[in-house]
Amino acid sequence: MRVLVIGSGAREHALLLALSRDPGVTALFAAPGNAGTAKIAEQHPVDAASGESVVALARRVEADLVVIGPEVPLVAGVADAVRAAGIACFGPSADAARIEGSKAFAKDVMAAAGVRTAHSEVVDNPAKLDEALDRFGPNWVVKDDGLAAGKGVVVTTDRAAARAHAADILEHGHPVLLESYLDGPEVSLFCLVDGETVVPLLPAQDHKRVGDGDTGPNTGGMGAYTPLPWLPAETVTAIVEDVVKPVAAELVQRGSGFSGLLYAGLAIGADGPAVVEFNCRFGDPETQAVLALLESPLGAALNATATGTLASLPSLQWRDGAAVTVVLAAENYPGTPRTGDKIVGADGDGVLHAGTAVKDDSIVSSGGRVLSVVGTGADLSAARADAYAKLDAIKLPGGHFRTDIGLAAVEGRISI
Ligand code: AMP
Repeated sequence: MRVLVIGSGAREHALLLALSRDPGVTALFAAPGNAGTAKIAEQHPVDAASGESVVALARRVEADLVVIGPEVPLVAGVADAVRAAGIACFGPSADAARIEGSKAFAKDVMAAAGVRTAHSEVVDNPAKLDEALDRFGPNWVVKDDGLAAGKGVVVTTDRAAARAHAADILEHGHPVLLESYLDGPEVSLFCLVDGETVVPLLPAQDHKRVGDGDTGPNTGGMGAYTPLPWLPAETVTAIVEDVVKPVAAELVQRGSGFSGLLYAGLAIGADGPAVVEFNCRFGDPETQAVLALLESPLGAALNATATGTLASLPSLQWRDGAAVTVVLAAENYPGTPRTGDKIVGADGDGVLHAGTAVKDDSIVSSGGRVLSVVGTGADLSAARADAYAKLDAIKLPGGHFRTDIGLAAVEGRISI
């Protein structure tokens, strides 16, 4: 099987690495890829958001399967274009991708499916903002009602900060979504979904804030770990049965059946799981940790999902132990990151690339989240030690990372 992966992040590097371990995968292509993926896949430039461009490339490299990593091409209908060209594609249609692309659509689907989520209101008139804020918070949860790469959300007890963020979103011409605050530790559960067939991967936890102890602004994700020692297996089963399956069935009923990776982001509160968000693709940085423990061939699993045969896929097998991803970010991320810095030690084992490029034979930073370093071990504590030892060997001027990925779980500070 010849596989083309669209995207250029550490998530795509992790997907390509897992695909390269699958004996059924005979050729790997990345578009556009990065300095790390160039070592394991043939790289091609592509306009990832253009169906025409992706289809032309898929034909040129004779891909049997196209895997679309990021949300932007999915929401733009690139998977539809690939399938219309007669090529198998891992990724939902534009219709189904609205579960991520439109928060209003996601809320409507959840209400119809009877799935617990935060109460929300859309505000598009600045004159109505103050009275709307008075109906919520503290804590206030203020979101941009569109794709914002995880960075459009402010969760705060400070009304002035909530108001300022909402006003900023409105000034940019976007509607604001206000939500009730969901309490409890967060879980990311990735599921392969083919219509009503749902196959969960290992649950993971992301660390969204930039600083240790969950301080500072939200980012695209600073680290993750899997599995979750504090999450009972019955809760995972309950999430699949009471959240993911009803949503998958509701999408089928609306004629927008989902094919690909449905990511349920949940808060596990005192009354049980409630959905924070759905995403229509693998999450970054959880994917880097989850795939490090996958023993089953990834190409076979993605191809079964893409070709409507997921129900007959053998059960997924996982390695024992734990995996931890720590993101090394550029100076000033999540603001405008400094780029062009030379990175030393970026080709080590377990080092996945994101914002990297090759310049004058050196690897340099080219984005906010530069590398993901993945550690594994017999338990979470060992996996953390492995990840941070690997990070120690990497030098990036101005680079920063969180030192506490998975630490609260190791210290038994997470309870539900
Ligand atoms: P989103 O862009 O919707 O994924 O939100 C990003 C992050 O903001 C989530 O992972 C949560 O940490 C936080 N968040 C979003 N919505 C809520 C909510 N209703 N209650 C509490 N935290 C939230």
